[in-house]
Amino acid sequence: MPKCSECSADVAVEDGAQENEIVQCAECGTELEVVRTAPVGLAPAPDVEEDWGE
Ligand SMILES: [Zn+2]
Repeated sequence: MPKCSECSADVAVEDGAQENEIVQCAECGTELEVVRTAPVGLAPAPDVEEDWGE
């Protein structure tokens, strides 16, 4: 299981996750980007503002 780059907690990534998919660490809330699959590799997500005011 991939680990969070911030807190080293195991991060659950669903089967069939795609590259560039964003997952969130349940421990620290850091957003992580799936940079590779099989095996899944994670990197800190780019700091993109996704709040469009909803
Ligand atoms: Zn974490």
